[in-house]
Amino acid sequence: MKAEIISIGSELTSGAKLDTNSQWLSTELSEIGIPVHFHSTMADDRQTMLEVFQTAVRRSDIVLVTGGLGPTLDDLTRELIAELTGTELVLDEASLQFIQDLFEKRGRVMADRNRIQAMFPAGSEVLQNPVGTAPGVWMEIPRAGRAPSLLAAMPGVPSEMKIMFKEQVLPRLPGGQRVIRRRSIHCFGEGESNIEAMLGDLTARNRNPEVGITASSATISLRIAAHGASIEECDHMIAETQSLVSEKLGTLIFGEDDHTLEAVVVGMLRARGQAITTVEAGTRGLLAQMLSTAPGADSCFLGGVVLNASPSVVISLGDDGGAVDATNSDAGSMSLVSAEETLEMAQNARRRFESDFALAISPFTEPSVPGEPATSFIALAGEHVNEVHEHRILVDPAIARPRAAKGALNLLRRHLLESEA
Ligand code: ATP
Ligand code: MG
Repeated sequence: MKAEIISIGSELTSGAKLDTNSQWLSTELSEIGIPVHFHSTMADDRQTMLEVFQTAVRRSDIVLVTGGLGPTLDDLTRELIAELTGTELVLDEASLQFIQDLFEKRGRVMADRNRIQAMFPAGSEVLQNPVGTAPGVWMEIPRAGRAPSLLAAMPGVPSEMKIMFKEQVLPRLPGGQRVIRRRSIHCFGEGESNIEAMLGDLTARNRNPEVGITASSATISLRIAAHGASIEECDHMIAETQSLVSEKLGTLIFGEDDHTLEAVVVGMLRARGQAITTVEAGTRGLLAQMLSTAPGADSCFLGGVVLNASPSVVISLGDDGGAVDATNSDAGSMSLVSAEETLEMAQNARRRFESDFALAISPFTEPSVPGEPATSFIALAGEHVNEVHEHRILVDPAIARPRAAKGALNLLRRHLLESEA
């Protein structure tokens, strides 16, 4: 079962407008498992349109056409469907009445030319248009020795086309009655390929539910899509797949659908009535920004210190209230903050802000050998925890920053999970 999409309108080929209908329709068809193998965009031109229609009907089981259904002389779609199928255009009284009523309601007289919009190729069906004047055309076009090609002609106006597709075309398509439900599961702490390996055959193509993997700033998302006959059936299938995924990935999973790592961490802290502060250099304030914009953060994010990306002095936030101490006596050339110093930054921030936890991110160091990864340290300080991890930066710092900030949040998340257990 293959589909193709034809967009008609000189405004599309001239460059005045972009053909967005094809994109939208292709997405809709993929939702019901029908692959689209051709898009054609053409001017309102009789000969071109006829040739493309002929080819489309020959090679595709479903042909969706948009545009060219209007009342003007350059709107040729219905005429050409009649020509293609060797049929006459016949008047559909109900459609004519509908169009006349519409004009009347708007206090206008229907122009003669609008009659054409109530004319349909003999043997076709009318696709109602609840929001505009031009009804669409549905026609099953016979093909020698094969199942007919299913052709739907819809208006070019995107809003009209979309309603007609959903209400009139989709239910007529094979598989159009089927339901699709989706869920995303978000993970952090392993790379995409490791996660894929852990999932084994869950990510096999043609599995139902399908499990796809996408990565965004080190958050790995599994997108589960279930195809079934009802919402209940799909939800049941998704729940089954989700529990298989949980078995395999365990605490790498931090949330689903619109959950973010920072929102999950804030939620955990709130549930325990605990608070956090941050001190960061390499990430230039990103960690503080993520935490402070998470829903509910006001009660648990006390504040953060943001340092220059390569500070020549490192804030120590000492107990004496002295704001800044040089901990790096040879600072100046390349600021290198050690693992111990990063942990100290976190411990001092925690003391100064009187918070339960503090996260620190050191400046990103330059690699000592070109081509080697740069590094940064991420530290977590709390009453029962003093942990520091080396974070290797293999990519552009602009990409490394969100990864490091999320790495810090994940360090805290893991600690909170472990201390709950
Ligand atoms: P109808 O069949 O409803 O009369 P039509 O395509 O003949 O539609 P047009 O005047 O050509 O009518 O188009 C109506 C509006 O829809 C225009 O703004 C046009 O740019 C837009 N449009 C037409 N086709 C597309 C498309 N494929 N993608 C996006 N917009 C489109
Ligand atoms: Mg047009």
